[in-house]
Amino acid sequence: MIKHDHTSHNKKTNTPPPSACPINQPERYVKKYLRTIILLIFLPLITAALPLSALTLDETLAALETTRGAEGRRVEFRWDPFFQSGLFFLGDHYASFFAAAAPEESGFLLLDGRDIFTAHLPYTENGALIFPDTFIASLKDAFALSIDEEATRLRIAAIIIDPGHGGKDPGAVSAGEFMINGKSQKAVEKDIVLEVSKRLSDVLKKAWPGKRILMTRDGDTFPSLAERTTIANSVPLRDNEAIIYISIHANKAFNHNTRGYEVWYLPSDFRRELLDPSKYADSADILPILNDMLQEEFTTESILMGNSILKAFGETLGQSVPNRGLKAQDWYVVRNSRMPAVLVELGFLDNKDDIALMTTENGLQKFTEALYKGIAEFIGVFERSGGFTAVR
Ligand SMILES: [Zn+2]
Repeated sequence: MIKHDHTSHNKKTNTPPPSACPINQPERYVKKYLRTIILLIFLPLITAALPLSALTLDETLAALETTRGAEGRRVEFRWDPFFQSGLFFLGDHYASFFAAAAPEESGFLLLDGRDIFTAHLPYTENGALIFPDTFIASLKDAFALSIDEEATRLRIAAIIIDPGHGGKDPGAVSAGEFMINGKSQKAVEKDIVLEVSKRLSDVLKKAWPGKRILMTRDGDTFPSLAERTTIANSVPLRDNEAIIYISIHANKAFNHNTRGYEVWYLPSDFRRELLDPSKYADSADILPILNDMLQEEFTTESILMGNSILKAFGETLGQSVPNRGLKAQDWYVVRNSRMPAVLVELGFLDNKDDIALMTTENGLQKFTEALYKGIAEFIGVFERSGGFTAVR
C-alpha cells in the first residue's frame, strides 16, 4: 500500500522549496532532540555514579550480539589508528567514537551519522582497546533504539548510478581531438561518464556503508535502457525504504563555445504506470489516483534532487562554469525508473574548458565532489523530513 504522511505533496500545487519539507514535521524534531537532550543531561550522572569496569574488544562484540532486536545481524568493528577512531556495525547501523586519552573520560557516540549519545569512551591500555561497561550499555541502547525505529523511519536505502551508453554505444564523441591522458584523441562520452560514475560510487560507499550503492554498468558494456531500469526497479525494498536514480551523461553541441552543466527530470504531465496493477487487484478503481499521487511525489523529489545537484556544481566548479539549469524531458531511463530520478549532463565534449574538467584528475575530483554533495543534501532533506512517501 501507499502510505502518505502529512508532508506528502499530493495536491497539484507549486513545488515547495526544499526547506519546506523538514519544517512540516516539527514533532519528529522535538521528539528526537528531546531524547538527545535527556540523554546528554542524565547519562553522565548515571554513568558517573557507577564503578567503572571494562571489557576487551572480543567481549564487547559478543555483548553487542545480545542487543535487543539484533538477532542474526552482522557485528563488526573497524579501528583507525591514525585518527584513534572506532566504528561499530550492527547490521546496517553503525556507531562511531573517538577514543579517550584516559579511562573515565566522557565523550560522544554518533549513531548512524545522525543521533548523538554521551558515554564513557573506550581508551587504549598497553596497546589494546578497552571498552568501559557503561560505554557498551550506551552502545547497546543506541543500537536497540535505531532497530526499534527501523519500521517507521523512512530512508534512502539504495542509490543507482547509471553511466550513460557503453560498449557498442560510445554516446557523444567530440569532433576535434584533445590532449587526454597525455595523448591527442577524441573525447568519448561513455568513457568519461564511467570514470565519474566509478569515483562517485566509491565516495558514496564510504559515506554510507549502510546503503546499497549500485551501478548499471561498471565496465565498457552496453546494458539496454530497459535493462538499466530493470536493475533499478528490482531492488528489494522494505516499507520504509526509498531509492534514487542518477544517470550521468556528457553533452554535445555544434558550437564549440557552448559549455556548462545541466540536470534533467521527468515533466509532471507525463503519466507513468508506477504501480503494478496485478498487486492492486482489490483496489483497481483507485489505482489511477494512487499512480497520480506517486507521480507527483517522484516529480517533486526529482526536482529537489536536481536543484541540490545544480547548487553543489555551482559551489564546486565555481561561477565561471555556466549552470544551464534544471530541465524537463521525457528521457527513457528517467521515465521508466519508478523512483526519483535525474539525468546529469556534466559538460560539453567539444568545449576545451569542459573537456579539461572532464578529463583531468582535478576536474574529475570536482565532478565527483559536486555530485556527492548534491546527492548528500537531497538525502539529508529526505531522511530528516522522514521522507515524503513510502511505497510498496
Ligand atoms: Zn548521453
